[in-house]
Parts: sequence; structure tokens; C-alpha cells
Amino acid sequence: MGFWTWRLGILRAPFLWWQRVVNGFEFLRTELGSRVVVFRCTHYEPTTKRCDSYESRPLLCRDYPLEHTFDAMPQLFDECSLRMVDKRAAVLLRSLEAQGLPPERLAELKRKLFLVEAEDAAPSNAP
Ligand code: SF4
Repeated sequence: MGFWTWRLGILRAPFLWWQRVVNGFEFLRTELGSRVVVFRCTHYEPTTKRCDSYESRPLLCRDYPLEHTFDAMPQLFDECSLRMVDKRAAVLLRSLEAQGLPPERLAELKRKLFLVEAEDAAPSNAP
């Protein structure tokens, strides 16, 4: 949530109303410190694990997680099945592995540079 919407009830109330009435997001809680608002989506169908309004889903849903690709350290929710992988990750991974780093250091760098996901995504016969 934006700073002013978070701070001012006069902005927050219509924001929450819009999310409930227009987007179908039921307010659950806020997470102090991060300005995160947690909603439950009424369009999510748990039995099929699908969106019942996928063609008309909110812009927020259409943008996720694209908007995070511009973050220096993109963070997705743990529950999200998507993973961030730099399109040049395979080259960086090969370069790192060629450095002869101690295994713990190599593992740490792979994790911090989101290369573990690249390793998982790479075809097994990748050059
Ligand atoms: S994609 Fe559909 S189910 Fe998922 S949050 Fe958006 S509206 Fe809800």
C-alpha cells in the first residue's frame, strides 16, 4: 500500500472499499512495518485452484509478478509457484562454478543471486 493511503484513513477507507466491492478482495489484516495489506480473494476457487474471473481479473493480478522484475531484490510470496530467473542466469552460473569457490560460498552466491532457480529451470543437457 502506498505511504499516504497507509497513513490516512480518508484514503485507506475508499481503497479497502474498492478492493472489496470492485476486485472482490476481502480485507484480512495489515502487516505493520511493511505496509502490506493481506486480502482473501473471493474469486479464488480452492477446489480447482483457479480464478473464477480470470478474463476480467484486476490489474493488480495482471501485473503480478511483472512489477517485481524491476526490483533490485525481487521478493515473491513463499506460497507463489512462480520464481524469478534472470535470462542471463545460465551464463553467470557457469562463470561462478568455474571459479573454484568453496561449496558453501558457491551455494550462498547461487541463493543470493537467484541462480538456484536458474539451475532448476535449466534443461539437463544445457551446454
Ligand atoms: S487472479 Fe483471480 S483468484 Fe487470483 S487474486 Fe486475482 S482475482 Fe483472485
